[in-house]
Amino acid sequence: MEIKKGIPVSPGVAICPAVVIDAEDLTIPRRVVPDKDVDHQHQRLDDAIESAREQIATLRDNVEKDLGPEPAKIFGFHLGMLHDPTLLDQIHQKIDDEHVTAEYALSQVIRALAQRFLASAEQLFRERVNDLWDLEKRVLHFLVEEVRAEIEHLAHEAVVVAHDLTPSQTAALNKSKVRALVTDAGGRTSHTAIVARAVGIPAVVGLEDITSVVTTSDMVIVDGNRGLVIINPDEEQLEEYRGYLERFHEFEAKLGKVAKLAAETRDKQHIVLMANIEFPNEIPPALAKGAAGIGLYRTEYLFLSTETEPDEEQQYEAFMEAIELLGDHPLTIRTFDLGADKYTQMQAALQERNPFLGCRSIRYCLQNLKLFKTHLRAILRASAHGDVRVMFPLISNMLELRQAKMILNDVMEDLQDEGIKYNPNIKIGMMIEVPSAAMMAKSFATEVDFFSIGTNDLVQYTLAVDRGNEHVASLYSGANPAVLKLIKDVIRAANRANVPVSCCGEMAGELEYVMLMIGMGLRNLSMTPQAIPEIKQLIRSVTMRDCQRVARRVASYDSERQVINYLREETRKVIPEAFDGRSIA
Ligand code: PEP
Ligand code: MG
Repeated sequence: MEIKKGIPVSPGVAICPAVVIDAEDLTIPRRVVPDKDVDHQHQRLDDAIESAREQIATLRDNVEKDLGPEPAKIFGFHLGMLHDPTLLDQIHQKIDDEHVTAEYALSQVIRALAQRFLASAEQLFRERVNDLWDLEKRVLHFLVEEVRAEIEHLAHEAVVVAHDLTPSQTAALNKSKVRALVTDAGGRTSHTAIVARAVGIPAVVGLEDITSVVTTSDMVIVDGNRGLVIINPDEEQLEEYRGYLERFHEFEAKLGKVAKLAAETRDKQHIVLMANIEFPNEIPPALAKGAAGIGLYRTEYLFLSTETEPDEEQQYEAFMEAIELLGDHPLTIRTFDLGADKYTQMQAALQERNPFLGCRSIRYCLQNLKLFKTHLRAILRASAHGDVRVMFPLISNMLELRQAKMILNDVMEDLQDEGIKYNPNIKIGMMIEVPSAAMMAKSFATEVDFFSIGTNDLVQYTLAVDRGNEHVASLYSGANPAVLKLIKDVIRAANRANVPVSCCGEMAGELEYVMLMIGMGLRNLSMTPQAIPEIKQLIRSVTMRDCQRVARRVASYDSERQVINYLREETRKVIPEAFDGRSIA
């Protein structure tokens, strides 16, 4: 048994065999497989080599056709290597001798060969080293792809263990079979974490080397409450966690009854609880959990879950599906937030040095007007059919907001000219997720119909901490007094200007922050649907005076430790059952 500690990002517990996905562009860790799995590794190796041979032969033929026989000879070396019985025997031998995965055996043998090439006196050999890396990557790609495909069509329940998962990989997982996600990389608000919470499965990220510790088929316990992954647990641990799971299901059943009740404090102050979604099919479960509408629709997932960019019609259909599923409830469509860690195929080619500070989100839209206008057309057309609101992300200065609004206006005029229906009074909002926007909230309040505070990015930009970097994850905290000061200022500016303000960052769905946010003046919270019942239960157990007292006390603290300890204590007093999972030993 081995226990690893990471960052808990999605609550719950899963007890399940693991499936490990290697990353073809990183060092492959040594992983031993059970005796019965050795033949399977030989087979996987043979299949991947065969696929790589076929791919190289096609490449060679195409190059020969386009550029002539000479350039096509480059591929002769690659094909020769993949037919070299000595090389292939060595890889198979390694699998036999050490009972390791095909990925590891392949990369070790090729790396050893590369070292010999590098040390060779012959320049010809030294020049071939890059071809060896290329070859390794090509075969690894087939091995890794096979595991990814397996995960998309899992026949059994599993915990997915990966170095990192891109938003599109996470979106493609077979949600009915994946019981938990654990990754080497990532932080509290990285997109693996957000999708895991949306799907309602436990997740632990930032484990640094979990992919080298776990082997496919190992039994693991993922404790998403405390951030633990227990590999090959003993009977005592299993008993303890099974007991916890039972209590957790009882608590969930109790919370289920809260869904239909009003989200109001004991002294009858109503709080609007909305849901954040990535896909329209999350709407029915969100409504069932008691959501009053969608406060954040992350439309970029339309772009991330397909190889090709969705056209106007496809986007319109997705928005119409959402509207139909929502009935009279509002739908807040955030214009797509691509860039940083959410790349389309096209964007992935344009590597940036500091992508979170680069051409992401509204900046990307303003530089790709055709794409942006198509998106806005689809949103506006949908606005004729329901309570649709549009929201611009990552606004960092006034010009950006005005440009975005101007383009929206242009698109309205086009639709008008074409006689296509839209809502000319559509509510236009902006996300406050950059400190410059928070500081200028008073001015922005004169330009928009609503604000939504995006704490996930606001925390990262205020504290200069990459939200997805496990090495600085301990510095990433919404409880930092500087972050709280900005949030408070935004709420105050909005309330003074009579501009509705909500919070749609992950903090809105974290129990500890709810009393504080309400005490600071927020009346609208948008969160991952799974969190709604618990948050509603908390709201129904407190008064406005409780919340204001909490906010006053927090304002007197100057360290995030004090803030978070105090908030945890106050919340635990109100809803102790919710902390059960966090305290099991
Ligand atoms: C945020 O930044 O708080 C937010 C809600 O947007 P995203 O997490 O999609 O960046
Ligand atoms: Mg954001």
